[in-house]
Amino acid sequence: MTAENLVVAIDPGHGGRTGCRTRDESLWEDDYVLAQALELRTLIQLAQWPVTPVLLRYGPDVCPSHAQREASAQAAGYHLLISLHCDSVVQEYAHGGRAFFWPGNEIGEAVAHVIADAYPDEIGAIATPADLGWSRVRNVLGAHEHTAVLLEQGFLSNAHDSEQLQRESIKAGIQLAVLAGVARFWHVFEASRLRAA
Ligand SMILES: [Zn+2]
Repeated sequence: MTAENLVVAIDPGHGGRTGCRTRDESLWEDDYVLAQALELRTLIQLAQWPVTPVLLRYGPDVCPSHAQREASAQAAGYHLLISLHCDSVVQEYAHGGRAFFWPGNEIGEAVAHVIADAYPDEIGAIATPADLGWSRVRNVLGAHEHTAVLLEQGFLSNAHDSEQLQRESIKAGIQLAVLAGVARFWHVFEASRLRAA
């Protein structure tokens, strides 16, 4: 395997009106994450790294199962999967972004930490292992054989987060943070390939 064929699968979470939303329902998670996924794919292409971005997409208003997402990522020959989400909860005060990795996956942990460190300060993000308290996150990450990182970009149910998430500069900042995570993955992956050679 060479760096020339590193494939990053970009998974826009949900699909259809099954995800999270702002309190006034003016902005839905599936719309937001799809737009972010499209921009991210373009950014990775523009970077001209030996990294091929593949957008997992199933058509409007379709919410594929976790197994279907993994099957599509496998068909694309993925090495890293980034699953994009936004949160919403009943409590208005919950805020901030979180980059989840599978406990014990050191590469996923490294990628999540870079994304969190590079995340726009206006929202902020922490890197978090998807341990037993996070059953929904575990369901997403656990469906994937290869390294997967789930990014909750912020809380649509929080007035501050939802306002920030809709600013163009913040959207671009989030994309750059993910791009930094992809660069980190590439670096770690290449290093392990060279050690194995
Ligand atoms: Zn979600």
